[in-house]
Parts: sequence; structure tokens; C-alpha cells
Amino acid sequence: LVRLRARLSRSQNSLGKGLLTLLSREHLDEDTWEEIEDTLLAADVGVAPTQELVERLRERVRVLGTRTPEELRTLLREELLGLVGTEADRAVHTEGGLEVPGVVMVVGVNGTGKTTTTGKLARVLVADGRSVVLGAADTFRAAAADQLQTWGERVGARTVRGPEGGDPASIAFDAVKEGIAEGADVVLIDTAGRLHTKAGLMDELGKVKRVVEKHGPLDEVLLVLDATTGQNGLVQARVFAEVVDITGIVLTKLDGTAKGGIVVAVQRELGVPVKLVGLGEGADDLAPFEPEAFVDALIG
Ligand code: GDP
Repeated sequence: LVRLRARLSRSQNSLGKGLLTLLSREHLDEDTWEEIEDTLLAADVGVAPTQELVERLRERVRVLGTRTPEELRTLLREELLGLVGTEADRAVHTEGGLEVPGVVMVVGVNGTGKTTTTGKLARVLVADGRSVVLGAADTFRAAAADQLQTWGERVGARTVRGPEGGDPASIAFDAVKEGIAEGADVVLIDTAGRLHTKAGLMDELGKVKRVVEKHGPLDEVLLVLDATTGQNGLVQARVFAEVVDITGIVLTKLDGTAKGGIVVAVQRELGVPVKLVGLGEGADDLAPFEPEAFVDALIG
């Protein structure tokens, strides 16, 4: 929590702090409410959630009458929490099946931090005492398999890889097979994320999913999104959601961006919870997404 707060507060105009200042004005006139809206929109909260939040805030402030700083903070905290959601299942599931490891497929556009996230997640699992096999099914980006293998060596997980430009589905299949043979707890599969042909992507990810499911259940399909890409990220999210059933979102590069509101927008867009956040390039910079900690960090 302390780390999250420190990382998020690095972004100059923390969303909540700005809102709190605006809400504390003596006269909440139309211009102020517009400024509040602009602040939320600038943080990528999205149009519909912004309107909802402002409407609710206006009503509650009106009912409240006098407003102490503590009251305003509580109000803002509650409303932001309501937007982010506190009920969702944010656990990354890796239970697997009978004698079959848990399988997690990691998808997303190249450059969003997919391989890094796969490596960091492996580290978290290994630190938790679970044995992990990595599948380097991103055969499109030349360096991806090397990068993943380096992570694997660093954290103590074996990497299954194939020839460059090889068939991603067959590597995924082999990785799960290897996981079963080794009695591993979890298999993490890094996939390619070129978006230029949706049909090609659909074909490839669909195939990876199908071959993995020949072995047993697929526990999670995590979509990695770069928090700094704003609306573009939402467009990407939509495309991936049409191709595979996303079970969770990983929002990377949340360090040093004032665009934290994308958490709200992307959850709405996909109807899927943000489960993990990337807070830097280092091995320890992956954290579970905790709505309370997140909102507190936003408000400052
Ligand atoms: P991929 O193409 O999706 O596999 O992306 P990579 O895993 O290679 O990551 C692309 C770049 O983003 C690398 O330089 C990573 O170090 C960086 N990166 C990944 N996650 C984060 C994060 O949470 N914060 C920051 N600041 N950088 C990140």
C-alpha cells in the first residue's frame, strides 16, 4: 500500500487530490462542477462513469449542506470506490485440474508489458512456493523468447520455447505438456500481440486456447494493457475481448501516470476486473489490485 501510494503520487496531479480541492470550494457553481468533470475525463475515467460520479456527488453534496474536509474526503472516497468496485473477484486463479497445472494465458498488444508481466507473475508464484513453467508462445517478436527465458532463469522457472516464427499453439501445447510431466503447479503462456490483422490474431489466440484446453482447464486469460495509452488501450481491449474470453486485466505502467481513471473505464468496457497492476520495470513491481489502496493513493 505504501509502495502503491508512493508510485501513484509520483504523478503530479493526483486525481483525487484535485477533486478534493475543487469540492472544497466555498461555492460549488456550474464552472466548478465542469472542472470536476474535466479532471475525471483527463484521468481517463470515461464519459459515462464521469457523468454518473458527478451526478451522485452533486446530489450528496446538496443533501449534506455544510461540508467539512473530512466529510468531503469520505464522500469522495466512497464514490470513487463505488466506481472502481469492491465486490469483484480479483484473485489470479491457478488451481488447475487433477494432475494438471494451473494455466494462465497472457495476451495483449506488443509493448504493453506482456513479457515483463509474465516474468513478474512467475516471480510472485515462485516466491509463494509454486513451481512454474513458462511458455514462450510469442514467436513473432524476435527477442520475446530470450527475454522470457532470462526472466525464467532469474526467478527459477523453466522456459519452453520453439524456433523463431514457429507455431505459437504448438509451443503452448508443449509448455503445458512439460508442466504436466514435471508436475509443475502453474504454466504461464506469453503470447504474441500484433494487432494489424484481427483475423490473424483471432486465429492464433483461439488456437493457443484450444490446444491448451486439450490438456485441461485454462484458469485465466489475462489481458495486459498499458495505462498510458488511454482510449487506444480501450480499443485494443475490445478487440482482444472479441477474440478470447478475458478473465482479468493487468494494467501496466501505472507508475508515473495521472491516467489512473482508466481502471474504471476498462472494467466497464470489458465487464472484467483489474487483477494486477504494474508499477515499474523491476521484478518486484507487480502488485495485486486493491480498490481501497488504489482510491486512497488517488486521493492522497
Ligand atoms: P511486450 O512486448 O508486451 O512483451 O512488452 P515488454 O514486456 O517487453 O515491455 C515493454 C517495455 O515496458 C519494457 O521496457 C518494460 O520494462 C516496460 N514495462 C513493463 N511493465 C511496466 C510497468 O509496469 N511500468 C513501467 N514503467 N514500465 C513497464
